[in-house]
Amino acid sequence: MKAVLQDKTYAELVSLVEECGEKPFRARQLFEGLMQGKRIGEIPISATLRAALLDAFEDEPVKIRETFFSKDGTKKFLFELADGNLVEGVLMKYKYGNTQCVSTQVGCRMGCKFCASTLGGKLRDLTAGEILGQILAVNRAEGGDLKERAVTNVVLMGSGEPFDNYENVVKFLRNVTAEGGICISARNISLSTCGLVPEMRRFAGEEIPLNLTVSLHAVTDEERARTMPIANRYKIADILDACAYYFEKTGRRYIFEYSLIEGENADEAHAIALAELLKGKPCHVNLIRLNEVKERDLKGTDDKTAYRFLGVLEKRGISATLRRSMGSDIGGACGQLRASYIAQAIAEGKAQADRGELLDGPTALANLRAKYGK
Ligand code: SAH
Repeated sequence: MKAVLQDKTYAELVSLVEECGEKPFRARQLFEGLMQGKRIGEIPISATLRAALLDAFEDEPVKIRETFFSKDGTKKFLFELADGNLVEGVLMKYKYGNTQCVSTQVGCRMGCKFCASTLGGKLRDLTAGEILGQILAVNRAEGGDLKERAVTNVVLMGSGEPFDNYENVVKFLRNVTAEGGICISARNISLSTCGLVPEMRRFAGEEIPLNLTVSLHAVTDEERARTMPIANRYKIADILDACAYYFEKTGRRYIFEYSLIEGENADEAHAIALAELLKGKPCHVNLIRLNEVKERDLKGTDDKTAYRFLGVLEKRGISATLRRSMGSDIGGACGQLRASYIAQAIAEGKAQADRGELLDGPTALANLRAKYGK
């Protein structure tokens, strides 16, 4: 595989263009062309520069190989990378904009028992440009450009653990938020981690004020370790400290994901313990219905249990929402698509927050019930 030109920042493109003996302003044309999702071969640059670039870089590092359409307007994309590896992403449409879920690794090595992405382990990290390329390809395919974007929000919740690919993910975040590019504001980006504490702390210093989301899924370290091997390395208390540090540095409240698993973490006692654990913290809880993975022996809860869990959190003053699982008509049970529906919940919760609406309390519950007829 050749190198990925979309990895480069605008400043790096300026040096590259100069090295090729061209005027620096050519870098602007190149940068814009790349950010519009064009192949190198399609960008209006000199023939010499084009030939030099094509010699060293992939012409189209991320191709959309297939698109699946859901009745609810959601689209699922299968991307092909230059070395033939495949990753998935999803585009979810809302009134306020379109949220794309991207992958950060081919597979994952975190080993969470409920997650399909990790079944085959991690094959490799994606480069910054391969993460960005998923967005550029979809923005273009959906008829968007740099002014009228078809992708306005991004969640890093496809396959992979973003903080296990720290450098590439941070570089991606700098490029996706950069002026003159696709320029998606950090506030419209959510990053989900299984809780790699040192990287969470390091990330707090990067000054990228996005929505930090942590997969909690349990209230004690012992219970967490039953489904998440990472719990053997990092304690919940240390994760909470790292979250508090993130809040201190960025002023951004953080989000916990909690997938309800029958007989594991979904009893009333768990809800009470979760409320106790998070009491007074500037956070939001996204309750998720487990998408059952056939290779694993874990079951989701029924609606009654899920709403009871939500009710306990709300009664105890914890901001929380519950997401209905969707998308079964386009393969909602598979690893990445499933994860992206979780992303949808977060994006929705965030949008509500941005609009200044209440996320917690009886209003949210009543809205959910009205929407889903419960
Ligand atoms: N590696 C990151 C991103 C994972 S995907 C992380 O761990 O946060 C986003 C969310 O989907 C995570 O909260 C993950 O735990 C959750 N998830 C994975 N498989 C799931 C399943 N089968 N049902 C419900 N949630 C799942």
